[in-house]
Amino acid sequence: MIFNISALRTGLISLLLSLALISPVKAQWQRLPFQTMGTQAYVELWTEDNNLGKDLLLAVQNEFERINQLMSPYIDSSELSLLNLEAANGPVTISAELYQLLQQAEQLAKLSDGAFDISFASVGFNYDYRQNIKPSAEQLNTQRSLINYRHIQLLADNQVKFARPGVKIDLGGIAKGYAVEQAIGLLADQGIKHALVTAGGDTRLLGDKRGRPWQVAIKHPRKSDDIVAQLPLTNSAISTSGDYERFFIEDGVRYHHILDPKSGQSPSGLMSVTVLGPDATRTDALSTTLFVMGLERGMAFIEQQAEFEAIFISSEHQLYFSSGLAQ
Ligand code: ADP
Ligand code: MG
Repeated sequence: MIFNISALRTGLISLLLSLALISPVKAQWQRLPFQTMGTQAYVELWTEDNNLGKDLLLAVQNEFERINQLMSPYIDSSELSLLNLEAANGPVTISAELYQLLQQAEQLAKLSDGAFDISFASVGFNYDYRQNIKPSAEQLNTQRSLINYRHIQLLADNQVKFARPGVKIDLGGIAKGYAVEQAIGLLADQGIKHALVTAGGDTRLLGDKRGRPWQVAIKHPRKSDDIVAQLPLTNSAISTSGDYERFFIEDGVRYHHILDPKSGQSPSGLMSVTVLGPDATRTDALSTTLFVMGLERGMAFIEQQAEFEAIFISSEHQLYFSSGLAQ
């Protein structure tokens, strides 16, 4: 058979068109907002397989809930609650997953000279920011010495023991970042190349937004609808810790959810700290750490952490950038 070249081309085009009608291109962004770990979370991903995309959105939500069930201090049956209940009486065996996160927390506690310390909760449990409740001066005095990461003994075979009765731990400064990181790992394992997962102040980006960077905003610490900066980011993590998420004000003092382990009280020099880096578990924990350290110590500390950068907003509304960000 002999085809005229233009007829062939028309034929090809109509064949392609009809194929397109039979199976319309399904590649698209898929999105799911959901509540977890006491905060708003969100996942957005690109896939060419609609059904896989839907499944993966739900898998991310389930992963958050799984970690919440393991690590929430508000769920009586969580491993963390059982640890808080039993570990002062003797060694408690926990899951390898929780044990490894406790190891990461211990590592940062040592590195930060105790600015990051999950045993802050030994005093922290007395605060209720919704009901304007704080520990009395007497409670602070008697309980402050219970805050010390050295009281948390990580033993062999995933066993943990608390050195004293009254020690409590809380993973609020690291668990959300960990969950965000886990969720991104799950998506990457399934072949996803472009995704964003965020929970509270912790965000992790996988790849870019198909040809352009993702844009992540830093909230204004005093005007909840405003932003102070928008950062173009690819394949990285960003976490913000602020004094405006959970707080109450009494007699002019702002009592908020980040505590200085040395005093058991909220530091006041900064309004927010944002940390950028390769993984969300670290950026989450580091943002809390820098908030406790304050501007001067925090800046010196982050300059020593290869791959991590920070943006500080002081109580005087001044912005400070670590050297990798300053142009
Ligand atoms: P958010 O929870 O709003 O994302 P952060 O990442 O800064 O903010 O975490 C704050 C949480 O970290 C607190 O709610 C508390 O659970 C925990 N936390 C507070 N102070 C410390 C500290 N010194 N070391 C470790 N964790 C802390
Ligand atoms: Mg944090």
